[in-house]
Amino acid sequence: TSALVWLRRDLRCDDHAALYHALRRFERVYCAFVFDTDILDALPSRCDRRVEFIHASVLELHEALQQLAAHGGAPGGGLIVRHGPAVRCIVQLAQELGVQEVLANRDYEPEAIARDRRVAQALQAVGITFSDYKDQVLLERDEVLTRQGRPYSVFTPYRRAWLQRLDAFQLRPYPVARHARHLAAPPAGERLPALEELGFARTNLHELHLPTGMRGAQRLLQDFAPRMAAYQEARDYPGRKGVSYLSVHLRFGTVSIRRLAALAAAQAEQGCAGAQTWLSELAWRDFYFMILWHHPQVLTQSFKPEYDGVQWDEAPDLWQAWCEARTGYPLVDAAMRQLLQTGYMHNRLRMVVASFLTKDLGIDWRRGERFFAQHLNDYDLAANNGGWQWAASTGCDAQPWFRIFNPVTQSERFDPGGRFIRRYLPELARVPDAHIHFPAAMKPVELAACGLRLGMDYPLPVVDHARARERTLMRFHFLGAKA
Ligand code: FAD
Repeated sequence: TSALVWLRRDLRCDDHAALYHALRRFERVYCAFVFDTDILDALPSRCDRRVEFIHASVLELHEALQQLAAHGGAPGGGLIVRHGPAVRCIVQLAQELGVQEVLANRDYEPEAIARDRRVAQALQAVGITFSDYKDQVLLERDEVLTRQGRPYSVFTPYRRAWLQRLDAFQLRPYPVARHARHLAAPPAGERLPALEELGFARTNLHELHLPTGMRGAQRLLQDFAPRMAAYQEARDYPGRKGVSYLSVHLRFGTVSIRRLAALAAAQAEQGCAGAQTWLSELAWRDFYFMILWHHPQVLTQSFKPEYDGVQWDEAPDLWQAWCEARTGYPLVDAAMRQLLQTGYMHNRLRMVVASFLTKDLGIDWRRGERFFAQHLNDYDLAANNGGWQWAASTGCDAQPWFRIFNPVTQSERFDPGGRFIRRYLPELARVPDAHIHFPAAMKPVELAACGLRLGMDYPLPVVDHARARERTLMRFHFLGAKA
């Protein structure tokens, strides 16, 4: 008997649900990854850090599968890599290999669900079974429901129920290595395409401190584990190394979510508040996957339908200023430069820039969400949509519309010495701490003292926050009675 494991956003070979089930049930198990042209062709640029990240991780996974097979005493092992439309590639490959079943880990995005349905139908037509498994999240779909049997729409009670449900069974790793002898070698003549053969160019990925693949995830985890205890206190300061930076690895599955949660849960049980808080972040991740699965309409609509009545502004100049990090609000601009230069943005800053776009510039959250989708290495539809709708006050458990972040006080609070700002806005390096958060308030003599020419070296603010705040309150006001 033989089977094919189709890897997608689960680029690892340890603690892997579909791989484990295949190895346990079949004598020969092939593994494949498809560079899906349906996804790649839609990317706006041929220079994309995520494609390079996936490519590097796929190369590493090929070697890891070979080592795993050798460890299990099997000849060969390795990854079959294809480039083309996923549905066609997988059906063809399954037929070429003569397998009885194709196994994959479950996806929760509407387009991926539709793709998997098409694959399942096409496979069924040629007598091959398709099966999928929970792997990407800890608790999925209907596993956490209210007492009335309905999905939660508020995070805090969801987290409480989620924590109760998260027992040792849910956290148990799948012992893939135990069955590694069933790993089959790719057919003769298979080879891995170079990045350029896929039509993509190299990016600055290797200059960033972003190690790829399973080994990269392991390195980041080793770095974060001793810092987890301080997470609660350090996580909100973008100038400090307070967070894990594991999001891109969770996005592409180079690390198992169960492994991370088990580590956090063990430390939390010992009374570690940092681990408890970090575990809650993983609950947010599950929460948004659950929301997307139950409410796929959030893709284009507000979670709370009445908020689709908000009249957003077109504001092309303001939009350009936001995209190009030229708003005149240093924390916003530094955050946007971090995104453009590295593909990462700190969580506090994602909240600040999303609030700024929607509440200060009056621009539709969907445009910001699309911009993030193009630029974030860790872009994940569920979390990104949830985060944007939260910031715009249109989502589930969102921040209330009348609470509007002040970009200057956020800056004073979370980047007190302007360390983060200076890292990404070197033009402000000489501005004294007292003015780093809002140089527009400096007197001419103060500007002269640090050699800053406002409007030339650094832009004047594109909006006045106090006035923008009033406009936003008016914009949302008509909803006040309902909200
Ligand atoms: P850590 O603080 O170390 O957190 C650990 C993990 O928990 C993260 O890797 C992530 O998987 C999960 N997590 C943390 N916070 C959240 C959250 N609020 N929602 C869901 N999961 C969370 N996260 C993405 O993974 N992809 C996105 O596209 C994305 N877009 C966002 C857009 C906006 C407007 C906002 C406000 C948040 C967004 N987030 C997104 C959530 C969060 O900002 C990132 O997960 C986090 O900054 C990643 O850094 P880290 O791995 O160092 O996080």
